[in-house]
Amino acid sequence: MTDRLYYHDSFLYDFDARVVETLMLEGKHAVVLDRTAFYPTSGGQVHDLGMLTAEGQQIAITEVADEEDGRILHFAAASLPAGTQVHGSVDAARRRDHVQQHSGQHVLSAAFIRLFNMPTVSFHMGEESCTIDLETAGLSAAQAQKAELLANEVIAEDRPVCTRFVPLDEARQLGLRKLPPKQTGDLRLIDISDFDLTACGGTHVRATGQIGSILLRKAEKVKQGVRVEFVCGLRAVSTARRDFMTLTEAATLFSSHIYDVPEQIRKSLAESKGAGKAQHKLLEELAELSAERLLAQSVGSPQVITQFFPDRDALFVKLLAQKLTAGKSPIIALLASGAGQPTLVFAQTPGQKFNMGQLMKDAMAQLGGRGGGSADMAQGGLPAGAGNIADLERALHLIAAPLQTSGPHS
Ligand SMILES: [Zn+2]
Repeated sequence: MTDRLYYHDSFLYDFDARVVETLMLEGKHAVVLDRTAFYPTSGGQVHDLGMLTAEGQQIAITEVADEEDGRILHFAAASLPAGTQVHGSVDAARRRDHVQQHSGQHVLSAAFIRLFNMPTVSFHMGEESCTIDLETAGLSAAQAQKAELLANEVIAEDRPVCTRFVPLDEARQLGLRKLPPKQTGDLRLIDISDFDLTACGGTHVRATGQIGSILLRKAEKVKQGVRVEFVCGLRAVSTARRDFMTLTEAATLFSSHIYDVPEQIRKSLAESKGAGKAQHKLLEELAELSAERLLAQSVGSPQVITQFFPDRDALFVKLLAQKLTAGKSPIIALLASGAGQPTLVFAQTPGQKFNMGQLMKDAMAQLGGRGGGSADMAQGGLPAGAGNIADLERALHLIAAPLQTSGPHS
């Protein structure tokens, strides 16, 4: 069993110890010390980083793990023989951040219980933010804000946070917020004065003021309830700073105040929707005019119209195909567009003997694209940059040739 120094002092960053065991696990060096201030990943809190110094040599600690038998494994960049005296130094900035996030979680979980009787069923500490999962059917924005306010009031009150060890039977009588599932021996209790009492093995603040602040972010439905994302302390400041910079950048684009950004976005979306509608109307008119011109130029029955539009997109040739084949006289339109993804559209005036879908499948097999459709209308796309104008025009003419000679008057 490793003596866990962090149980008694969350702000102990330097310590002396002796290597009692050295191991090789999955290609990584690991050492067990007789005592340690390094916190191992457990209870939702992430492990510490830092250094072990032995005989003037510094060895980085890359991961710390908790074993079921009570040993703490320190994964190290190099091997250290058993019996070596070492000096350990924990990365203090990282630990302080973890202490703030983890202690903030106690306060926030207690606030959700006190206000809405929503128990916390799990806690996750991430690189950027933390989450708790609340056992509840739903959480309104107003409820989240109330919990955030209460948690921050408790932080502002700077309530003492005490740690003590209590036998399991005694702990059961104390009305803890959470009892660990399996436990032997004494329970380690974390007591936030007159606010929260729970069992926990993590590292905590001395008083709630050290948490600094809690900022709640998104809440989303998950299988077991509602997941609430939050950040505490310096993370809350850096996150709020990033939010502000993002909002300021958006406001600058609109030449507006940051609080007017949502209204500006609403306006822009409405304008862009209106412009889209106007553009579609113009495209329809252009397709109508193009159809009239093509119909006036073409001869034969059925009239087979082949045309490649290098500067138009798929929507335009589709509209044009619809216009060309909407009349009574038998028309076959074999069209291609070059803007964006090169697209082929085949259409015929309904009631003719040809099958555009099959024709498209054959064309795509030859040209190396994907497509299909019904007997009267089919569409196919070629890989971007496929072929060139000459290739596509030649392909359209080759497809058109047998149709022109197989008409009723051929
Ligand atoms: Zn804790």
